[in-house]
Amino acid sequence: MEKYNEHFLMDTKTVVDYVKDNVDFFDEDAQVEACEISDGNINYVFRVYDKKTGKSLVVKQADKFLRSSGRPLDLHRNKIEAEILATEGELAPGYTPEIYKYDDVMCALTMEDISAYKNLRKELMSGKVFPKLAEDITEFMVNTLLPTTDLVMDRHEKKEKVKLFVNVDLCDITEDLVLTEPYYNYKDRNIVTEGEEAFVEETLYNNEHLKAEVGELRDNFMNNAQALIHGDLHSGSIFINEEGLKVIDPEFAFYGPMGYDIGNVIGNLFFALANKVVTDPENEEFIGWVKGAIADIYDLTFAKLNKKFDECVTFPLYNTEFKLNYLNKVMADTIGYAGTEMVRRTVGDSKIAEISSVTDNETRIKLDKLVVLTGVQFINNRKLYKTGEQVVAEFERVVTEL
Ligand code: ADP
Ligand code: MG
Repeated sequence: MEKYNEHFLMDTKTVVDYVKDNVDFFDEDAQVEACEISDGNINYVFRVYDKKTGKSLVVKQADKFLRSSGRPLDLHRNKIEAEILATEGELAPGYTPEIYKYDDVMCALTMEDISAYKNLRKELMSGKVFPKLAEDITEFMVNTLLPTTDLVMDRHEKKEKVKLFVNVDLCDITEDLVLTEPYYNYKDRNIVTEGEEAFVEETLYNNEHLKAEVGELRDNFMNNAQALIHGDLHSGSIFINEEGLKVIDPEFAFYGPMGYDIGNVIGNLFFALANKVVTDPENEEFIGWVKGAIADIYDLTFAKLNKKFDECVTFPLYNTEFKLNYLNKVMADTIGYAGTEMVRRTVGDSKIAEISSVTDNETRIKLDKLVVLTGVQFINNRKLYKTGEQVVAEFERVVTEL
């Protein structure tokens, strides 16, 4: 449509026209309205609904500029998001919102409204437990990750995919904010809690061994085009209810190490755990559940990858000792990237609610140290763990030494 042959940023009025003009969704006599629901700092997200019936959908639009700071950001990320949602929807049906339309001029994605599911981070903050979380999230990850590697995929097709998913700007954010700056504050963007400057200097900035380990993880992130990963699978990208979960916001997707996604999930559960251990230590129900969920995610990921490998990988060279070496490397990456996530959300500039909501300085320092010290252990010892229980035990050891 001529009206939409050039990108412009929509508002709650123009998005209603856009949906009416482009998507066959609402009835002729529908009373369509829209509101903005974004809590992110990158894009614009509108809920568009019929006032009469409550029927609704969501439009996510990317702008040329980052919403929070106004700096330019490649619009190609919106195409990447649409492409990966389609791929994930095929590989793991029901775990992502259904896509109704992708418009690469307007950079707008029109999709299923998943408001029946709630932000996992917020749900965990409020102390809710989800017995099916480990089972569901490992199902999503294993089904989307292993089949997109070239152990399974045709190698020509895979190279085309690698090309399509080159995601320069958003990988750049991860390479800096996650895998550089917490250890080498060269852009002076870290935010360190008052009173723990010396701790951060000693534990992170002046820790040469740690820098070497993070260097390895950074290099692996940049050069190991292993699988099509979500790239930002933190607990604010997972929406959940008693029935199941949906994964959204994959605009950081690219071909990278699958341990980065799995590690993000595990690292973010440690924020929920550490927050409660420090602020609500009597809450044994939650603390026990989240420890179990973390251990289960580690163990189930390994078991399901192993099974999927047997089902999907047919190349003779791989059906050897190679399998165990490969899976061990994935699990080592997983714990390493759980560690880098934990460190970066504590000293980096993208804090999460589990950390920033703790305003009492003494409690906050205790929480920060718990998370950072566990993260450092994870980075250094990532190749040593064999079970989820050992991973949780590492955290428990840091708690007792605090
Ligand atoms: P950003 O890329 O700016 O971080 P997100 O994709 O994370 O944007 O979306 C921001 C918020 O909008 C989400 O936290 C969620 O609350 C809401 N949202 C996004 N997509 C949907 C959807 N399909 N259904 C319902 N809510 C959504
Ligand atoms: Mg987001």
